Amino acid sequence: MAGIYIHIPYCKTRCTYCDFYTLTNESQIDAFVDALCTEAGIRKEELNEPVQTIYFGGGTPSRLHKEHFDQIFDTLFSHYVIDPNAEITVEANPDDLSDDYIRMLAQLPVNRLSIGIQSFDDGELKFLSRRHSARQAIDAVKKCQQQGFHNISIDLMYGLPGQTLERWEQNLYQALALDIQHVSAYHLIYEEKTRMYSLLKAGKIKPVDEEISTAMFGRLIDRLTTDGFIHYEISAFGKEGYFSRHNSAYWQNKKYLGLGPAAHSYDGDNRSWNVASLNRYIKNMESGSPERETEHLNPYEKYNEFILTGLRTMWGVNLPEMKSRFGETLFQFCMENAQKYLDKGLLTTEDQTMKLTREGIFISDGIMSDLMWV
Ligand code: SF4
Repeated sequence: MAGIYIHIPYCKTRCTYCDFYTLTNESQIDAFVDALCTEAGIRKEELNEPVQTIYFGGGTPSRLHKEHFDQIFDTLFSHYVIDPNAEITVEANPDDLSDDYIRMLAQLPVNRLSIGIQSFDDGELKFLSRRHSARQAIDAVKKCQQQGFHNISIDLMYGLPGQTLERWEQNLYQALALDIQHVSAYHLIYEEKTRMYSLLKAGKIKPVDEEISTAMFGRLIDRLTTDGFIHYEISAFGKEGYFSRHNSAYWQNKKYLGLGPAAHSYDGDNRSWNVASLNRYIKNMESGSPERETEHLNPYEKYNEFILTGLRTMWGVNLPEMKSRFGETLFQFCMENAQKYLDKGLLTTEDQTMKLTREGIFISDGIMSDLMWV
């Protein structure tokens, strides 16, 4: 199983909380797509197995035009073996999803949409500097469904300054009313170098109380699971048969190729990341020499990733696999550190698999870091 991630480094405007590598000046978008296709050709030997998932992320992939998608798909289908049942996802922002744009997407080999909604409250959307309104978000989802998209994920954000539990719950009710198949919900993080972080440091906003944050996460789990969603990863909820295959592959340490500036790749032994500069990326591709940094993972780093990615998911960490891959010493290290959490009911083992319990999910970061080798 292998996947391709494509980073589209464009956004119409920047949201106050975001630290992703994106640009608002789209003047080089054609040159970027040419460079992306060049990279796809240069690196084709790196994926010598059928591609099961393709994910257009960003940035805002819905800034691409039809010709760009056509060029990218022609290139991918000519250089790679794409499984006929591959999951092909495009991230889109509601304000880009006009009738014509959705119709265009429906004619592409795209079979899954991930819509960046974040909130159904106009005040919250404004605070986050999102470009759409709640009405636009609702209409966008409905129009996508009318055009035949029946594998739709939406992103939601909670833990905003001043957000109440009731307001968060209204967001969840609105999401559930849309008959979507997947929800990814993230707590607001104050990333350095963002405007949100500056506001926090200047004392102009106050983070939500930890107690409310925890209650919001609990409400998220309860509302969605009551409505038939399966909580399969800390931030991800899917209906049966609609888990993100692309993201699940990340959590199962499968290989993926990342194309585009700042995109990350993983080949089973090494992680690498492309240069985070559009100008340098385009120039490098014109000269046929990709620029990226590579980090070889030693067995301890691989063990840490195995723990981190396994415990994030409902599939947990397979104990016999851990022992055979990382040896007795790391296995014992893990089990000794896990014991206090097993005793407190925060971790559980069943069928030779160790998982977080519902109580454990609330303090997952602390548990995972305790089980990691430093
Ligand atoms: S959150 Fe999404 S739309 Fe907003 S700036 Fe970041 S990548 Fe762009």
